[in-house]
Amino acid sequence: MDDVIIIGGSFAGLAAALQLGRARRKVTVLDTGLQRNRFAGHSHGLLGHDHKPPLDILAEARQQLTRYPTVRLVNARADSVSGALDNFSVLTGNDESLGARRLILSYGVADQMPDVPGFAESWGTAIVPCPYCDGFEVAGQHWGLVWSGRQSHNYVKLYHDWTDRLTVFADGHDIPLDIRADLAGRNIAVVDGRIIEIAKNEGHTATVYLDIGRNVAVDILFAHPRNKPSASLHESLGLATVDTPLGIALKVDERRETSMPGIYAAGDLANPLMASVTTAISYGATAGISAQQSMLV
Ligand SMILES: Cc1cc2nc3c(=O)[nH]c(=O)nc-3n(C[C@H](O)[C@H](O)[C@H](O)COP(=O)(O)OP(=O)(O)OC[C@H]3O[C@@H](n4cnc5c(N)ncnc54)[C@H](O)[C@@H]3O)c2cc1C
Repeated sequence: MDDVIIIGGSFAGLAAALQLGRARRKVTVLDTGLQRNRFAGHSHGLLGHDHKPPLDILAEARQQLTRYPTVRLVNARADSVSGALDNFSVLTGNDESLGARRLILSYGVADQMPDVPGFAESWGTAIVPCPYCDGFEVAGQHWGLVWSGRQSHNYVKLYHDWTDRLTVFADGHDIPLDIRADLAGRNIAVVDGRIIEIAKNEGHTATVYLDIGRNVAVDILFAHPRNKPSASLHESLGLATVDTPLGIALKVDERRETSMPGIYAAGDLANPLMASVTTAISYGATAGISAQQSMLV
């Protein structure tokens, strides 16, 4: 039996495994290799690894984990989970049946691409979600923002630190008059109509086609599609969740423990406020240490 099974071996999961391996705990990490930022050429904002391809950062992390003989990295999906504290069972897509005293769920979230031609193809290059990740490279240029609800007003205020040239695409949303007045006061154009196609051009640039017969070129487009957890294991376990404007997240306490004793969660799956590689690593390490300290005799 393992001390801990980690489900999802990307930034959060590997950070948990590193702490547990250094504490000489027996760990299995299951991973299917579909990290959320795999569409991006470079990852930004992680101290010591800024502007590196995200998959290179993960490959280096996996290589470093080979130092720890109690850590086993397995390319397999966790198909089902059952049990309770000190006696969890995980069945993998390789038909392996595993047991562990603790679980860490770090299987991330999947962004749900809207049914707009060109959107999925542009995701991670011409269409991105986060200015901390990709804003510096296009600072001062003409940005577009696809409106997704009231929270988009906060994005408008945030983007001022990078550019004063912003076009808002209402994309069928009824933007309230008071917000429209605020946008006008900031010299931000609002383009009505629904987006029917996005054409990716050179570099980050894109042309947005609208159902009102217009098209608008931007140097980069920010959008926030809804997301959902990459697996449904938390549902079969009955774990508590919290609602966020873009989806749900697992409810955890400050030690990253979920509503079920012995199950911890980290990374985007349990971090609705600021999804990033840095926070995934930080909370992953916290989950690993919390799981280890919960097993002390
Ligand atoms: C386009 C884009 C660009 C981004 N750029 C940046 C950036 O520049 N800087 C930054 O800090 N952040 C960036 N992010 C955010 C960053 O990608 C996430 O915050 C980070 O990947 C979260 O790490 P995680 O470990 O929680 O989840 P993920 O990295 O999404 O990993 C989850 C892992 O779990 C695996 N998995 C899923 N289900 C199962 C299962 N049932 N069994 C086993 N394994 C499973 C998946 O295959 C995956 O490997 C970007 C996000 C996007 C969408």
